[in-house]
Amino acid sequence: MTTDFSDRLLRWFDISGRKHLPWQQQISPYRVWVSEIMLQQTQVATVIGYFERFMQRFPTIDQLADASEDEVLHLWTGLGYYARARNLHKTARSIIADFNGEFPTNLEQLVALPGIGRSTAGAIISIACGGRAAILDGNVKRVLARCFGVYGWPGQTPVANTLWEIAERLTPTRRVNDYTQAIMDLGATLCTRSRPDCDQCPMLETCVAHKTDEIERLPGKKTRQAIPVRSTYMLLIENSEGEFLLEKRPSLGLWGGLWGFPETEPALLDAVLENQALEPVAAQVILPFRHTFTHFHLDITPLHVRSSRSSHPIGEPDKLIWYDLQAPQAIGLTRPVTRIFAQLKGLQKP
Ligand code: SF4
Repeated sequence: MTTDFSDRLLRWFDISGRKHLPWQQQISPYRVWVSEIMLQQTQVATVIGYFERFMQRFPTIDQLADASEDEVLHLWTGLGYYARARNLHKTARSIIADFNGEFPTNLEQLVALPGIGRSTAGAIISIACGGRAAILDGNVKRVLARCFGVYGWPGQTPVANTLWEIAERLTPTRRVNDYTQAIMDLGATLCTRSRPDCDQCPMLETCVAHKTDEIERLPGKKTRQAIPVRSTYMLLIENSEGEFLLEKRPSLGLWGGLWGFPETEPALLDAVLENQALEPVAAQVILPFRHTFTHFHLDITPLHVRSSRSSHPIGEPDKLIWYDLQAPQAIGLTRPVTRIFAQLKGLQKP
């Protein structure tokens, strides 16, 4: 079964697989690692531009390690899941400090680095080094659950263990780099979440989900639970130069290390405005909106205010900046900030 599966997959890949994605060129552990981290939770089409800009700015791991966290987060702005960028930066520094700038090539050392899980480590070893190691990213989980009829949500340990066993068993010793790209590709292009293109699939004859008409059921889904709602005021504090005050968020927690608007709880709004001598701008132009995280909704009310102070409000100076929309600084911004600035720019157009 093992050889048959990989042979069919490789035959399909030779004819129909994608071979021109930017991270499939000049393959190296560094490029494979960055692409794998970007591709977690993010579509290929979105990642391409981010990957190219990232590689242009940081062509080597040394340059990434030398950069400031602000610059790394700046290049990540809009990709989401910012812990990925902070871990990427930490791992680059650790590889320079502890491995003399060379990527480790064994699984145990790789998974000990920040942000590198077993699947990412498997991709680095197999694609960049040609070593036999399995991967199990979201696309591969879907392909294997459907092909072999593995029921249940892959986030549950017993289901994940079964999928890992199958993935390990199927991984060939020959052409392991192509095999790894091929199985990810099959999930991304044919065996898609909805409406997979089974007629073109090399696994059509043996696929359990197809035979039993259970494609919709596989892989199993997580049972949805209602998530709580929180609310906040975001203060768009504008000075006399038309610049906005941003503060750096703590490294740990929501939007860690990014720059956001100062916030206040609804109950404290009046006291904050009074203490900081802030005057609400007469017309409220930005509408409240909801930002949804995996574990809660955040209802955001933007409040455009003017500061009568010429300097910073009370706070740590290196954690506060006046952000100039006409000459923006290279820093990472939270999603609400990019959204609100885009709206403000739109409103300013003649
Ligand atoms: S036959 Fe269809 S469901 Fe089965 S692996 Fe191929 S594309 Fe996916």
